[in-house]
Amino acid sequence: MKNPTACLWLSITVLLFHTGLCMAQKEKIEEIIDEKEAISHFRYLASDEMMGRDPIRPEIELAARYISEQFWKYGVKEVAGGQDYFQIVPFRMSAPPTKGEIKLGDKQLQQGEDMLVLDGSGLEGTHELIFAGFGLEEDYQNLDVNGKIVVVKVGAPNRLTPNDLFSLGREKTQLAKSKGAKGIMEMYNVPTVPWNLAANFLNRTQLTIDQNPDDTNPLTYIWIKDLDNKFVNAIGEGSIKNAAFEITGKVNKKIQGKNVVGYIEGTDPVLKHEYVMLGAHYDHVGVGRPNAEGDSIYNGARDNAVGTVAVINAAKYFAQNPPKRSILLCAWTAEEKGLLGSGYFAENPLIPLEQIIYNFNIDNGGYNDTSIITVIGLGRTTADDQIIKAVDEFGLKAISDPAPEQGLYDRSDNVNFARKGIPAPSFSLGFTAFDEEITQHYHQPSDQVDNFDLDYAMLYWKSYLLSVENIANLEERPKWVAGDKYEEAGKALYGE
Ligand SMILES: [Zn+2]
Repeated sequence: MKNPTACLWLSITVLLFHTGLCMAQKEKIEEIIDEKEAISHFRYLASDEMMGRDPIRPEIELAARYISEQFWKYGVKEVAGGQDYFQIVPFRMSAPPTKGEIKLGDKQLQQGEDMLVLDGSGLEGTHELIFAGFGLEEDYQNLDVNGKIVVVKVGAPNRLTPNDLFSLGREKTQLAKSKGAKGIMEMYNVPTVPWNLAANFLNRTQLTIDQNPDDTNPLTYIWIKDLDNKFVNAIGEGSIKNAAFEITGKVNKKIQGKNVVGYIEGTDPVLKHEYVMLGAHYDHVGVGRPNAEGDSIYNGARDNAVGTVAVINAAKYFAQNPPKRSILLCAWTAEEKGLLGSGYFAENPLIPLEQIIYNFNIDNGGYNDTSIITVIGLGRTTADDQIIKAVDEFGLKAISDPAPEQGLYDRSDNVNFARKGIPAPSFSLGFTAFDEEITQHYHQPSDQVDNFDLDYAMLYWKSYLLSVENIANLEERPKWVAGDKYEEAGKALYGE
């Protein structure tokens, strides 16, 4: 087009059309998202009755059920491969033994000090020890380990990262069990992971993804502190032949966790095969040490009932106003235990990851500025404009992560998807620093709805919906900006 006047007219028309569209969307959001309904979701999820939505407590089931009922009520579809609206996540809870002692040579070893029982139900009495190198298949040649305790070196040559230690440990335990061993002791001498650090981390109740969900009777698996190789040498030489065990009260419990997942089909015949994934963790830290007022229930209103409600609101709004792309709604479990629910989905996706073009996560520590929205990861994907404009429509301003030293981007569920290559920012309540206003409620019993600015909550929820709608209707899918640390992963995932 050459005529500058026509050009100008066209620009104005396009601008008005866009502004009009945005306003129409905003009006629809105002109409559909009912204040009392949204706040009632919020109050219910953050209520004392939920006992802090701890994945190791039964009350979290109420939260999962509640979210799934809202999905159903609003017309969200179930995803194939799930059970109703649930993706079952196999967890394993383990707690150290109440009594853990081993007499080895002339030393009496104590749980948490010189030894750690990592698996198995327990072990009592005196048992024969047999040395088997690193405990790999080749180390068992000509060895009869039946009914004995296999003693092995920790890790394997050149495989001594924490991940290696754990994955090898599982392999070795399975192998020793298949050979008829009664237990396995790994002699710990890794300099890169100090014993005290390992002991501190492992000598407490843990929730992890169950790597052997079918194994109901795991072998007793023990780490022995042996930094100078004294024990391993003595056992290898045959100068220590037996050990006396007194290991009782170890807890290993299988727990069924639930991600709540559903989708709303997009309207565009082509783009509907692409999904914008909205994710928020619905778990929190449970019941803990009481505060000065004697309150011991960690309600997690900010962290992250408010985000869960954003996903529930999205279910209602997008079921009535589906955008071009499909919307995948996810409420994750066990974020507070190490991003476990989202991590499980990233490894066992119910929708192929390459069809998930964007993950708009919601997670929160708190807020100290109700005039802004803090978007962790703003500046890292090409969808910034859609977010900035949407937030502006509601009279707020979007800012990027003000506290990069906190590493917040890599501390929430979005990172599990970013690592896979999916552009994945987090839409957070407004904060300008991780200051006292945040820490007074962050992971405290006082993180409750009754001290939450609910007018701000409404603006937060609504501006999230408009951001999502803008992104889900984009002509071109968002990408990582050039040079981002996840750009290569993105190219690999989407084959660009
Ligand atoms: Zn959180």
